[in-house]
Amino acid sequence: MKGRGWLSFLLGLIMSDFVVTAKIQINPPLEDRNDLNESMDQYRLACNYISDYCFEHKCLKRETIHNDLYPILRTLFGLKSQMACSAIITVIAKYKSILEQQHQWIKANFKKPQLDLVWNRDYSLVQGVFSVNTLSGRLKCPFHSKGMEQYFNKDKYKFGTAKLVKDRNNKYYLHIPVTSEVDDCEVSEICNVVGIDRGINFLSVSYDSKGKSTFFDGGKIKHKRAHYKELRTELQKKKTPSSRRRLKKIGNRENRWMNDVNHCVSKALVTNNPSKTLFVLEDLTGIRGATEKVKRKERYVSVSWSYYDLEQKLKYKAQRNSCLVINVDPRYTSQCCPKCGHIEKSNRDKKLHYFCCKNCGYRSNDDRIGAMNLYLLGLEYIKQQTENAESISPCIGVQSITPKCNGSSSEKKNKKGRKSKKTVCTTDQLQAHRL
Ligand SMILES: [Zn+2]
Repeated sequence: MKGRGWLSFLLGLIMSDFVVTAKIQINPPLEDRNDLNESMDQYRLACNYISDYCFEHKCLKRETIHNDLYPILRTLFGLKSQMACSAIITVIAKYKSILEQQHQWIKANFKKPQLDLVWNRDYSLVQGVFSVNTLSGRLKCPFHSKGMEQYFNKDKYKFGTAKLVKDRNNKYYLHIPVTSEVDDCEVSEICNVVGIDRGINFLSVSYDSKGKSTFFDGGKIKHKRAHYKELRTELQKKKTPSSRRRLKKIGNRENRWMNDVNHCVSKALVTNNPSKTLFVLEDLTGIRGATEKVKRKERYVSVSWSYYDLEQKLKYKAQRNSCLVINVDPRYTSQCCPKCGHIEKSNRDKKLHYFCCKNCGYRSNDDRIGAMNLYLLGLEYIKQQTENAESISPCIGVQSITPKCNGSSSEKKNKKGRKSKKTVCTTDQLQAHRL
C-alpha cells in the first residue's frame, strides 16, 4: 500500500482510497449454525458488557478499557484474543458516533447477534469457501457472491474488517468494507463541465461542454409521489393497527423506489460523461428554509424531494470515476441570461417554465437556463482555481463561489449586463484551456 503510494507520487498521480461495502450471503450447514450463533451471541453480550463499562466510566480510551476488561472478556465470554480486541474497537466506534451525532452520552445497546472479523485472521474467502474463527474453532461453509464477483480481484480491491450478521429470516450475511484506489481528479485535468439543475418538472437538467442539454423527466415522479401522499393521508385518518402497518409498508416502498430513481439518474450522469468531468450543482443547504414560504399544499412536493440523496449518490459515483462535484451559490442562476449576462426577475416565467431575456431576447426552458448558468459557474470555478495554482485542492465536497452574473443591486444591473457580455461566454476560454 505504502509502496504503491510512493509509486503514484513518483508518477505524479494522486490516488485516494475508495470504500464500498460488499454484502455476501453465507450458507452455513445446519450442524454448524449453533457454533456460529453461539459466537455471535457471546460477542454481542461482550459488546454490551463493554458498553456498560464505557457508559459508567465515560471512558473511550482503548488502552484503559483493554487493561480493565480484557481478562474478563476472555474468561467470562470465552472470546478469543482478536475477538476481544475487535469488540472493544466496535463499542468505542459506536460511542464516538453517538457523541458526534447526539452530542451527549446515550447508552449503546447491541441488540442483534453479530461478529466482527479481521481479514485473514478471523475470516477468509477462498474459492467459494468462507472460513471463520468461532469460539469452538474454525468453521468452513459455502457463500454466495452473486453481483460481487468484481471485488474478488485482489490486485484491485482490499478486504477490511467484516461484520457477520443474521437477519430476521435467519439468513447470515457478511458485510465487507472493500477498499480500492481511485485516481483523484485535479482541477487542472478537467476536460468536461456539466451544470446540473435539479427541479420538479424535470428531475434534473444538465448542460455540458459540448453544449448538449439532457432532461430527466420528473413528471411521472411528481405524479407517483402525489399518489403516495394521497394514500398516506387516507391511512393516517384510519388509525387502526392494520392501517399503521400499511403506512409503514408504503413508506418503505416509496423510499426504495425513490432510491432507485436517484440511483439511475446519477448513474446516467456519470456514465454519459468522461472521467475528469466537473459536475456543478446548486448549493441547496438552505432549501428547507426556502420552502417554508411555499404554500402548505405545495410544500410536500417541494421539501420532500430527495435532492440531497441524488447529490450523495452522484458524489459517490463521480469519485469512483475520477470526476469532481462542486456546489455553487445558486443566487440568480434562474434569472440570469447565460448569453448576455442580464439579470432580471421577469426574464423567467415560472408558471410557463419559460425564460426570455429582456435584454437580448434569448429564449429557452427555464430549468435548462439554470443548468447553463451552473455550467458557466463551473468554468469560472476552474478559472479561479487554476489562476491560484498553489491553492488548488481536490474538493469533492461543498465549495461555494459567487455567481459570475452577480448583480445584487438594481443600479448595477445594466452595467453588469454589459460587462458580462464580454466575459460570460467562457466556453471559448475552456476550449482554449483544456479541450
Ligand atoms: Zn440575454
